[in-house]
Amino acid sequence: MGLEQTMTEILMRILSPFKEPFTQGSNVYWLYLFSGFGLATLLYRFKLTNQDNHKNLLEYLFPKEIYLHSSFITQCKQYFATCWYTVFILIPLIGVVQKNAQDITSQALTQITGITTVFEIKNPQLVHYLALTIFTVLIADFGFFVGHYIAHKIPFLWEFHKAHHSAEVLTPFTTSYLYNPFDLFVIQIINFTVISIGSGIWIYIFGNQMQELLIFGDNIIIFILFLVNNLQHSHFWVAYPYWIGHILCSPAQHQIHHSVDPKHWDKNFGSLFSLWDWMIGSLYVPRGYEKLDFGLPDGESKLFNGVTNIFLQPFRAVWQRSRQTSDRSELGGESHSDPEEGSTERQAIF
Ligand SMILES: [Zn+2]
Ligand SMILES: [Zn+2]
Repeated sequence: MGLEQTMTEILMRILSPFKEPFTQGSNVYWLYLFSGFGLATLLYRFKLTNQDNHKNLLEYLFPKEIYLHSSFITQCKQYFATCWYTVFILIPLIGVVQKNAQDITSQALTQITGITTVFEIKNPQLVHYLALTIFTVLIADFGFFVGHYIAHKIPFLWEFHKAHHSAEVLTPFTTSYLYNPFDLFVIQIINFTVISIGSGIWIYIFGNQMQELLIFGDNIIIFILFLVNNLQHSHFWVAYPYWIGHILCSPAQHQIHHSVDPKHWDKNFGSLFSLWDWMIGSLYVPRGYEKLDFGLPDGESKLFNGVTNIFLQPFRAVWQRSRQTSDRSELGGESHSDPEEGSTERQAIF
């Protein structure tokens, strides 16, 4: 690659936060924002929203208590940090994992069984493309679910994932970029490892003659779901009928995932589908409108104010916890822990 080409590449990556709304498949792709706010407007017009109806449309769509909130200002700054981190570090790293995991999986299966491709499909038809499209969505969503679940359940990782849950307001523009870089790395590495193993298995069974059905460069099913899904990070209450909520994760169900109310903690880890939550018993489908407050309990969200603190706070917390643990063991053992201490914690740490 020539110097000029390298410089252009670097410049394009620096401009990535500004390209994001025009990047197909991004969380803030203009079409998804347009469809999300369009749906919110329809709900308002037909009085189908349970929220404050005495606001005018503009106040309802862009409430100043959200868009002037300090949490939103932090999220705006983190938007830039996450975009740059993603293009300069995360995507190159994930590319290596993805390619290797897929090849290793299909080659390992071939070596174990002695069969190169089990049912090779040489002339794929529409039904085969559709099957791959559905499989890809399911495996991609399952990969995210596994990564997200682990980020909550391993106490060390939860300290890092808290950055995402520090959002006291949710907006479709910024909250999906509110991540500590290490947390995003862990979730995405797990996610793409699962996806790559899944696609390695698919290639081993059916060969690689098929492609997903795409629209605007995105998997067609993901595209359709994302027309609504970007409202997951918003103040718009959009819930599906109770039974659909067991299959698809509505915006309201992800908002519940962000709630400070203890009854909502560790519920709804899924992103597109809620099937996985249903299977393991972490599903919470609301039966009606629930007024929610977002963020971490006990004012802990404030510790994540600003890009530097989003990066550093988890390390401080892990350090403090390890100090407390070693102090306790020096004093005579973990069994004497104060039952009151940490009672409002979401997890037992260490
Ligand atoms: Zn979470
Ligand atoms: Zn979220």
